[in-house]
Amino acid sequence: MEDCIFCQIVAGDIPSRTVYEDEHAFAFLDVNPLAPGHTLVIPKSHHETLGDLPAEESAALAAAVHEVAPAVEAGMDADATTVACNNGEAAGQEVPHVHYHVVPRYEGDGYGPIHALFDGPTDVSDDELDDIADDIGAALD
Ligand code: 5GP
Ligand code: ZN
Repeated sequence: MEDCIFCQIVAGDIPSRTVYEDEHAFAFLDVNPLAPGHTLVIPKSHHETLGDLPAEESAALAAAVHEVAPAVEAGMDADATTVACNNGEAAGQEVPHVHYHVVPRYEGDGYGPIHALFDGPTDVSDDELDDIADDIGAALD
């Protein structure tokens, strides 16, 4: 995808501070970090969302996140990382090339969990939960 920023970064046409690279995956520092060490992990091939990724690419991306997240913690002397994917435009994804954010976290940094994105638990009845589980399960068949 020649007009994709992240494809251009993988190709080396846009410079980046690369921290990891393998056959399928690539990781580099976010240009507008939420915290120092904020790293993006992406597949080398262009796919917009997690569901678009072929299985092999998805497995390689997960393996890269598995390598990069502890390295971000070690390299940044962080206590933890928030690992998150804005998976689709409605979820806030701005760059339409699938990517995980890996953001260093520290005890007492005050930013909270991903749950803080939402107003809190929503009321769903047991019957609705049964139907929802059936619907999602059916979509996986
Ligand atoms: P999204 O909102 O799509 O989940 O996140 C996209 C991320 O890409 C943002 O955090 C943004 O700062 C980062 N980003 C956008 N353009 C560039 C770029 O040209 N270089 C780098 N390193 N990061 C970028
Ligand atoms: Zn791309």
